[in-house]
Amino acid sequence: MFDPKKVLVATDFSNFAEKVLETAESIATKYNASVYLLHVVDQNVSKSSDDYNLPDEVVERYKEQGMKNSFEIIKGQTEKLKSKGIETEPVVMAGNPAEVILSEQAAKGADVIVMGSHGKTGLTRYMLGSVAEKVIRHATVPVLVVRA
Ligand code: ATP
Ligand code: MN
Repeated sequence: MFDPKKVLVATDFSNFAEKVLETAESIATKYNASVYLLHVVDQNVSKSSDDYNLPDEVVERYKEQGMKNSFEIIKGQTEKLKSKGIETEPVVMAGNPAEVILSEQAAKGADVIVMGSHGKTGLTRYMLGSVAEKVIRHATVPVLVVRA
């Protein structure tokens, strides 16, 4: 029986993210589940920074600032959920988005993953974004994909 107690929501702050969050909110309310709201700061910025010859400290500061800004946004979103009586936790991590989503699902024992079909760089002519595709391919729990 599908009776999730912990919902992992992956957000990339794209325009579709609001729709993804609304879906997760409905599920959490209906099943009395908690929401683990996760944003991953893509580590690939360090790769592209090599191309531009940026000094390490600039890259580090950029990443740190990115993590801080992301956490502020995600915290605001969880406050909204909390005000609706939903138990929730905001999390920002650095790494490869799909890999972090999958490992956090396992680490936190989430029963379902809610994400968008597309995200920030979305070319909607492709059926799925690459993060969505990788998560669906490897996840061991149901993945609910909200069509962008
Ligand atoms: P691509 O990144 O392959 O160019 P895209 O950006 O349109 O295409 P995805 O990145 O696969 O598509 O985004 C699909 C969903 O994956 C998003 O709606 C979001 O739920 C999740 N996602 C993508 N990137 C992240 C991230 N950095 N942190 C958390 N969730 C993410
Ligand atoms: Mn993307």
